[in-house]
Amino acid sequence: MDSGDVLVYDTTLRDGTQGEQVNFSAEEKLRIALRLDEMGFHYIEGGWPGSNPKDARFFELAKEVPFRHTRLTAFGSTRKPHTEAASCPHIAAMLQAETPSVAIFGKTWDLHVSEILNVSLEENLDMIRDSVAYLKHKGKEVIFDAEHFFDGYKNNPAYARRVCETALFAGADMIVLCDTNGGTMTHDLTAIIREVISYIPPHLLGIHAHNDCGLAVANSLAAVHNGVKMVHGTINGYGERCGNADLVSIIGNLHLKMNRKCLPEASIRELTHLSNYVSDIANIPPLNSRPFVGRSAFTHKGGVHVDAVLKNPMAYEHINPELVGNHERVLVSDLSGKSTIAFKARELGIDLGNEMSVNKKIVQKIKIMEDQGYHFDSAEGSLSVLMKKIKGEFKEPFVLESFQVFNAKTGDNPPITQASIKISVGGEEELTAAEGNGPVNAG
Ligand SMILES: [Zn+2]
Repeated sequence: MDSGDVLVYDTTLRDGTQGEQVNFSAEEKLRIALRLDEMGFHYIEGGWPGSNPKDARFFELAKEVPFRHTRLTAFGSTRKPHTEAASCPHIAAMLQAETPSVAIFGKTWDLHVSEILNVSLEENLDMIRDSVAYLKHKGKEVIFDAEHFFDGYKNNPAYARRVCETALFAGADMIVLCDTNGGTMTHDLTAIIREVISYIPPHLLGIHAHNDCGLAVANSLAAVHNGVKMVHGTINGYGERCGNADLVSIIGNLHLKMNRKCLPEASIRELTHLSNYVSDIANIPPLNSRPFVGRSAFTHKGGVHVDAVLKNPMAYEHINPELVGNHERVLVSDLSGKSTIAFKARELGIDLGNEMSVNKKIVQKIKIMEDQGYHFDSAEGSLSVLMKKIKGEFKEPFVLESFQVFNAKTGDNPPITQASIKISVGGEEELTAAEGNGPVNAG
């Protein structure tokens, strides 16, 4: 495994699936895992085998797959209170997944220990110590997720520190500081991390941020900037409530803005494809405004902007879109000027020549039609027809001679519709008819 400069830990298949509308079958999880492996992700958290049969089945399927770059990781909790780690079913389920790494989360916020888990602060530490030590004894790499670390630290810094040190001294390989509720401001998170690295070396630290304040990516990058080695997140930021940190943005920023390596260079150009691939499998429409990879990320609509980017793309683009596998787009609307029309005509293969009068007429016509309620920004076919009409090059592909639609309904029988249409192409007439369950269906 190429350890890289920053370790990327993907939890799309576990934390991501806690997001509303995000569901993957075991087979779909495997497809995503293979894609992430191919791109060089260091860790993939495949699921929580103790919590549901689907995740257990995913790990069974994954046993047949030789991952080349990634360390597959099973997720779970520390042992139950007042039991032995060796006899805890949660921990047994993690071991059955037969992954090289395991991630376990432990309570770090004293409020959660006393009020939610309902055990003493000492018992919580014992649960963490026993669980980590047992999993290490079983030969696993152990990643310890310090749940609610930042909220815990604000409330009781000494206890949050003890939790992390307990896991570390029991043998944990990584301590991941989690902003589980996603409510931590970047300046507070930075200040806390600076204190933590005075007692835990930053190369043993990870960050796991949620996006409830829209800061998950910023918080993750701030943590890395302060030395944290491992960054958790999900593709497209899928996750519970407002989601997890979006790894697509994090990777783009690390490579292109912070000069920090995490994935191979070729994988950066795959980011747009990856984002679309995962949203396709999740059956969630891609977000047009998603940074770096969204359809609108390098799309220009305002006439002044288009005029400028056609002279020099840097004028309104923060990076070359091809670096992340995206591309520039120009939209036509009533905000467009002559440069936009010239650009689109070239793109649509229409030669406007040097006749500025044609270009001007097209601009004027679009402005009038947009005022009447037409929209051209996602209707390139209509734009092409309009340009050809104004240029005098448009030929009707056919002439509509006549059409008829017949609807009938009798008794309990389903309605019947028959439609017929006659058109002519180059003087030759064609008549066709069809039946259907409604006029559109029949037509
Ligand atoms: Zn989480």
